[in-house]
Amino acid sequence: MSNIVIIGCGASGLMSARMLAEKNHKVTVIEARDRIGGRIQELNGKFSRPVEAGAEFIHGSQSLTLGLLHEAKGEAMQLNGKHYTLSKGELERGDLMDDQWDELTQALNTLTTDTDMASFLDKHFKGATYQDLRNRVQRFAEGFDTADIRRVSALALREEWSETDEDHQYHIRDGYSSLMQYLAAKVKDAGGTIMLSSPVREIAWRKGYVKVTTDAGGCIEGEKVIVTVPLGVLQKGTIHFTPDLPQHRTAFQAMGFGGVIKFLFEFNEPFWEDHASRNLKNLAFLFSDADIPTWWTQLPDKTPLLTGWFGGPRTFNAHHRTGDLFAQAIASLQYIFKLTPAEIESRIRHWHIADWTQDPYTHGAYGYTTVETTDALALVTKPVQDTLYFAGEAMYEGPSMGTVEAALTSGKETAENMN
Ligand SMILES: Cc1cc2nc3c(=O)[nH]c(=O)nc-3n(C[C@H](O)[C@H](O)[C@H](O)COP(=O)(O)OP(=O)(O)OC[C@H]3O[C@@H](n4cnc5c(N)ncnc54)[C@H](O)[C@@H]3O)c2cc1C
Repeated sequence: MSNIVIIGCGASGLMSARMLAEKNHKVTVIEARDRIGGRIQELNGKFSRPVEAGAEFIHGSQSLTLGLLHEAKGEAMQLNGKHYTLSKGELERGDLMDDQWDELTQALNTLTTDTDMASFLDKHFKGATYQDLRNRVQRFAEGFDTADIRRVSALALREEWSETDEDHQYHIRDGYSSLMQYLAAKVKDAGGTIMLSSPVREIAWRKGYVKVTTDAGGCIEGEKVIVTVPLGVLQKGTIHFTPDLPQHRTAFQAMGFGGVIKFLFEFNEPFWEDHASRNLKNLAFLFSDADIPTWWTQLPDKTPLLTGWFGGPRTFNAHHRTGDLFAQAIASLQYIFKLTPAEIESRIRHWHIADWTQDPYTHGAYGYTTVETTDALALVTKPVQDTLYFAGEAMYEGPSMGTVEAALTSGKETAENMN
């Protein structure tokens, strides 16, 4: 049985820790934060009920997540309500899809060699007629995938967009954190250890031996290490490998990791349900051309909460400050709902802005596939001398990129592949 150190106590680290501890390996999970869950974070106390600052939805039939939820006796609640689009002040029912979007899908279907999405649009959809389509593709890629269209793989977007199952989206009744608590209990029951508040700064290694040093100077030794920190942290290079891994460093940079800022606004009433100029009683998602473009409700749950979502390269802009972001959100809501800022602000009961780009243990939000990702992934998912392993949401290839399902799958596969 091996002595295995796992860096990061998010979905991926917990999944591999549980599996390895249950196989009687000695497992130590080292986590920088004072809590488990990583990009799964429930905010308690501030709002009238717990809300999700990070992961919130189960997208479609994600079998590992749903299976774990079932095992933990949790409940998935299917979302309902309608989608709306607001463009140039005009509100319409439905998504972004129209005849031009069909043309885009057809052109994507003829693509045989990969290219980045910006080049693809330049080649097939040039000119003023397609300006609106190009804007919508960019908004969609930035919003949903957090991607930079100058880098994101057109083939990967084609695959992902064709598999998006908007009709089967779920919330977890007790929140995503309940799944993390369940996994952490399983790790501890099987004899594993979880160390919180211990940011790792160095991993010294040779075949069959690792020494992990934390910021406070503590050392944990083992025979193998699984690194599950976000790709954004690996790209920043805040964890030093001794000896260095130059090819891995290049590969991390070649992969895509986008940013998200999430806005949580609880109001004293669901004003959008019955408002003179916009009657949106059944509003689920609203996609718009506002600065903060995407907003959603909690339907079928009636909590008067609007969640705003801003993703893509612009989120990394260093000029963002909480006050500016708040003002941007109010301006967007003013445009969308045709209310004055005072009318909106007077209705706000609680608010929170989760800026994951400024989080030192994430440096972004989640991964997206660039044209170079396949080669980079082949390198970084290969164990280094049966001693160093990389896992986590971004170390995954498949239709659930950027999700909890991807993180769980990567953690599971890494644990299974350890000999
Ligand atoms: C705003 C937002 C919304 C999202 N919405 C959804 C959604 O609706 N549905 C969905 O399926 N997915 C969603 N995701 C993606 C999902 O949250 C992630 O894919 C998943 O949680 C990642 O799990 P992980 O274990 O790979 O990484 P993490 O959860 O990030 O775990 C890695 C851990 O490593 C720790 N760490 C970092 N640096 C160090 C260090 N130096 N030393 C020690 N520990 C360190 C971190 O603190 C963290 O706990 C969302 C993500 C964000 C940011």
